[in-house]
Amino acid sequence: MRPKVAVFDFGCCEGCQLQLVNLEEALLDLVGLVDVRQWREAMSEHADDYEIALVEGSITRESEIPRLEAIRRQAKVLVALGACAHTGGINAMKNHMPMEQALEIVYGDKARWFDTIPARPLSAYVPVDAAVPGCPVDRQELVEVVKALLMGVTPALPTYPVCVECKMAENVCVFDLGLTCMGPVTRAGCRARCPSNGNRCLGCRGLVPEPNANAHKEILAEHGRTVEDILAEYRMFVSSAEVAQ
Ligand code: SF4
Ligand code: SF4
Ligand code: SF4
Repeated sequence: MRPKVAVFDFGCCEGCQLQLVNLEEALLDLVGLVDVRQWREAMSEHADDYEIALVEGSITRESEIPRLEAIRRQAKVLVALGACAHTGGINAMKNHMPMEQALEIVYGDKARWFDTIPARPLSAYVPVDAAVPGCPVDRQELVEVVKALLMGVTPALPTYPVCVECKMAENVCVFDLGLTCMGPVTRAGCRARCPSNGNRCLGCRGLVPEPNANAHKEILAEHGRTVEDILAEYRMFVSSAEVAQ
């Protein structure tokens, strides 16, 4: 009996689902191992008897909460797919302003027709069994997480920072180029994708557990920076803990 899987989305750009679609040959292998019951972005069939729910997006409207709770009641395993679902992601940038202001920025004089609440990760409302971090998710990691779930294993995320993978890749640290970087406080697992391609880490995979204790403080200290400095400079993916209302 193949495990029954469904894919859902809430407030997001659907880029992580696109990564799933783009798995190509690996997707064909995975589809042979599971029974996909519903997936709005990829198929028209629809059934509600799923066991594994892959859920993308953050919760940004009151009306989304009961829908998420219903998914949770049905699914034996609920996976947060991508930064929006895992940490609140880019959506949580609006949490720094009053919600009325956020509505006005997006909808202008139509703002009164819409509602919004501070963007929160799925785990703010329901228990989450596993997560695939990142914006977008890393395809290789996505396959590994799905394989682990199919074998009944809860996939574990790295608890060390991106700097470890960056050092292993023998990259020049961007601090040495006069830039800052979220690598010291960001959860590894992307193989230091951004620093390996000449960019800063923006922290899309969320913070390492206890960043104050686990950050590569020597890198920060060498450059006269602290964990707090870094967090204050990078709000794009470090917003969900701070809510305006
Ligand atoms: S995590 Fe990024 S790519 Fe994925 S849905 Fe959210 S905004 Fe889109
Ligand atoms: S701070 Fe950024 S560039 Fe420097 S080692 Fe860490 S991840 Fe790499
Ligand atoms: S390097 Fe940082 S921003 Fe880039 S993918 Fe990895 S965690 Fe995300």
